[in-house]
Amino acid sequence: MDIILLGPPGAGKGTQAQRLEQRHGMQQLSTGDMLRGAVKAGTPIGLKAKAVMDRGELVSDEIVSELIDAELTAMGADTGAIFDGYPRTAAQARSLDEILARHGRSLDHVIELVVDEDALVERITGRFTCANCGAGYHDTFKQPAQSGVCDECGATEFKRRPDDNEETVRTRMVEYRAKTAPILPIYEERGIVNRVDGMASIDEVTEAIDAVLG
Ligand code: ADP
Ligand code: ADP
Ligand code: ZN
Repeated sequence: MDIILLGPPGAGKGTQAQRLEQRHGMQQLSTGDMLRGAVKAGTPIGLKAKAVMDRGELVSDEIVSELIDAELTAMGADTGAIFDGYPRTAAQARSLDEILARHGRSLDHVIELVVDEDALVERITGRFTCANCGAGYHDTFKQPAQSGVCDECGATEFKRRPDDNEETVRTRMVEYRAKTAPILPIYEERGIVNRVDGMASIDEVTEAIDAVLG
C-alpha cells in the first residue's frame, strides 16, 4: 500500500508517518529529511537547496523527484511507501505517477490532514527532534516522558530546524496554499482523498488514519 500524507507545515505529517512505520511496517519517504541529509552531507544538491530551504521556498521539482525515485529503487517492492512532504506541486504529482508506474506501484490513499492555520505557527516553533533517532517532540504538545531523554532511543541530544521560525513558516504556508493545496483535485478525481481532522490529539489522528487504511 502506498499513501501520501498531505497538509501544510506543522500539520503532523512526520509525526504520523513515524507511527505508520512502527505500526504497519511501512516506510516514510520525506523529501524534507532527504534534503536536510543532503545539506548536512554537503552534496551538490544540498549546496543548491540550502538557501531555498532557509527562505521557506520550494526546491526544484527535478531535484525532489530524483530523490524520491532513488529511494523507491532502494526500497523493497512489498514495503508500503508513505510520501511525506511530496508531491508539493502539480509537476511533482505528475512525476510521482510516472515514477510509481515505472516501479510497478500505485497510490492507494491521499490523506489530507486538515488543520487551523493559526495553530501551525505554534506547532512549528515548538517542534524539536531527537538528534540520534529523529523522533519528533513538541515543547507543549509532546514532551518526552522523562525530560531531556528520548522516549525511543534514550539519547539526550535534541535539535531544532533552522527554518522553524515564524517568518519562514509564513512563507511555507503561502507556498502550500499557492502550489500544494491545488494538487488535491487531481486525487479527488480519482476518489482516493480521505480527510482527517489534524486538530485532534496525536493519538486520535493516528486512529483516524488507521481507520482509512483498514
Ligand atoms: P509536519 O511533518 O506536517 O510538518 P510534524 O509532524 O513535525 O508536522 O508536527 C509539527 C509539530 O507539532 C511537532 O512538534 C509535533 O510533535 C506536533 N504535533 C503533531 N501532531 C500534533 C497534534 N495532533 N496535536 C498537537 N501537536 C502535534
Ligand atoms: P514541513 O515541516 O513544512 O512539512 P519539510 O521538512 O517537508 O517541512 O520541508 C522543508 C523544506 O524542504 C521546504 O520548506 C522546502 O524548501 C524543501 N522541500 C521539502 N520537500 C519538498 C518538495 N517536495 N518540493 C520542494 N521543496 C521541498
Ligand atoms: Zn531518539
